[in-house]
Amino acid sequence: MLHYKGIAANAGIVIGPAYHYNRSLLVAEDRMLEADEIAPQLEQFEYAIERSNNELEKIGVLAEHKAGTQGLAIFEAQHMMLADTFVLDTIRKRISSEKKSAAYVVDSEYSHHQHFLQTSENPLLRERADDVEDIKQRLLRHLLEKQKWISKLDHPAIVVAEFLSPADAILFSRHELLGFATDGGGSTSHVAILARSLGLPAIVGLRGAAAHIETDDILILDGDRGELFVAPDEDTLVRYRERLLEEQAKKKVIAAKAKESEFPARTIDERKIVVNMNMELISDEAIAEAELMSKVKGKAMRGLGLLRTEHFLSAYDEIPSEADQTRIYSDLANRFHPAPITIRTFDIGGDKYIGGGFREKNPFLGWRGIRISLDQPETHVEQLRAILRASTGHNVKLLFPMVTTVDELERALGYLEEAKLELRKNGEAFDENLPVGIMVEVPAAALQAPAFAERCDFLSIGTNDLTQYTLAVDRGNEFVAHLFDELHPAVLRLIAMTVRAAHARKKTVSLCGEMAGKPIALPFIIGMGIDELSVAPNRVRMVSGLIRKLKYSETRSLVKRVLGESQSIPELKQTLFKFLHKRNLVEDFLSPVEIEMIERYGKSS
Ligand code: PEP
Ligand code: MG
Repeated sequence: MLHYKGIAANAGIVIGPAYHYNRSLLVAEDRMLEADEIAPQLEQFEYAIERSNNELEKIGVLAEHKAGTQGLAIFEAQHMMLADTFVLDTIRKRISSEKKSAAYVVDSEYSHHQHFLQTSENPLLRERADDVEDIKQRLLRHLLEKQKWISKLDHPAIVVAEFLSPADAILFSRHELLGFATDGGGSTSHVAILARSLGLPAIVGLRGAAAHIETDDILILDGDRGELFVAPDEDTLVRYRERLLEEQAKKKVIAAKAKESEFPARTIDERKIVVNMNMELISDEAIAEAELMSKVKGKAMRGLGLLRTEHFLSAYDEIPSEADQTRIYSDLANRFHPAPITIRTFDIGGDKYIGGGFREKNPFLGWRGIRISLDQPETHVEQLRAILRASTGHNVKLLFPMVTTVDELERALGYLEEAKLELRKNGEAFDENLPVGIMVEVPAAALQAPAFAERCDFLSIGTNDLTQYTLAVDRGNEFVAHLFDELHPAVLRLIAMTVRAAHARKKTVSLCGEMAGKPIALPFIIGMGIDELSVAPNRVRMVSGLIRKLKYSETRSLVKRVLGESQSIPELKQTLFKFLHKRNLVEDFLSPVEIEMIERYGKSS
């Protein structure tokens, strides 16, 4: 039995076979062709060249936006290599004469060139070897049909991988997925967020476990403790089967208590907190679950506090047309009416870039969110028009991600005016007073909150990014995951500043990062005066239930006291734990693992 410890990304236990997802480089098999396969293989080769050329063209445009002519040059060089008739003709001839599959000949021919470049004395030529690898992989991807199906399961399995992109996670989630275990990632990486919204047990940050796990190895994935057992022994299996039974019994009790979600989230002393939902996957199941949770006494009262539209790209493999976006946004606005839906413009970049081939050294500090939208105004205005068209029921809000400067906001607002003008010209209806907000997720935005609150209708605090950018801790990097903590006093101060700035201008503030769904943090969040929360649909009941057990006046005193003192993170957690304990809320709202951890802090401090 092997045992690994990683970061618990989503609670729950699952026992099942592994599916080892390997994103490593493709290698083609040496395969002889039958006589009648030669012509189709030659045709497939031409098709692969055409598809690869199209992809390189698209990436070249993106790269030019990002890195100017230098960026474009990289892809132009690849384009030229792919147009090298000497290499292409050699491949065509070898397919016919050696009767070998196109994939095999492509692999062997480009590997030969690569070897030549890699062993060159000239460093510039050695660098070119990477470009040849890119071209080879691109062609192989189109030639090896199998690759298309790689993110698909044909029986229930736990996906194990060194790294999973949000796109992979979404593709896997369409079939028989039991859970995720990845070497990379932190608790607020997008793959962890997706696991939570899919309700799947998950562990990230397993650091090197994937290499030791093969497809069909039996696994126990303990998402409560972040523990993974490979080929478990009988004792461990028996222990975990018992825990599974206990968990199922506990779920029944929780379901019985779920009646709490039938009530609006109001504190004992009548402060109303709106609890909305985050939505990433726009699938039928996700919408059905969110619709169910939106009901309070039978009426749609909880809307979408954050619609992560960039995940469309994973589902559609490209940005959907303006007409498709209009249909999707309008449908959601109608379904949740009169509750609001907050549509965030594409937050591509960071760990959410899913287009082929474009890489940045430091993507979280790179081309992301509003920066891309402002560099690609056509796509941005298309999305804005689609959002505006969905706003006729006056329940749509618009949210811009990753805003760092007031100038960015003003430019985005300029494009919004442009979009409105076009719709007016065409006589198309929309909400003239569409509320506009920004995500406060970069410290610069929190520090400038007064200026943003002046220009916006609302602010939405994204604690996942606000924490990573404030603490300089990559939210997806397992090596620094232990340093990622939203309860760091610096993050809390930035949140408090943002709330103060918004309220001084009579604007509302919501909080939509993962922190909003953490019971230990909730008394503090409520006490800071946050007006709205947005959490994964399966957390709505728990969050609403806890709010109903708190007194706003007491949470305010807690915040005043704690912000005034300089407590360390463990001390602060102890204070919050004691706050919940005094009100008999620990057992119902914290997991046994959290209780154990916080008690351990208490003993050591
Ligand atoms: C955040 O940063 O907290 C947030 C909600 O946005 P995302 O997780 O999509 O980056
Ligand atoms: Mg964010």
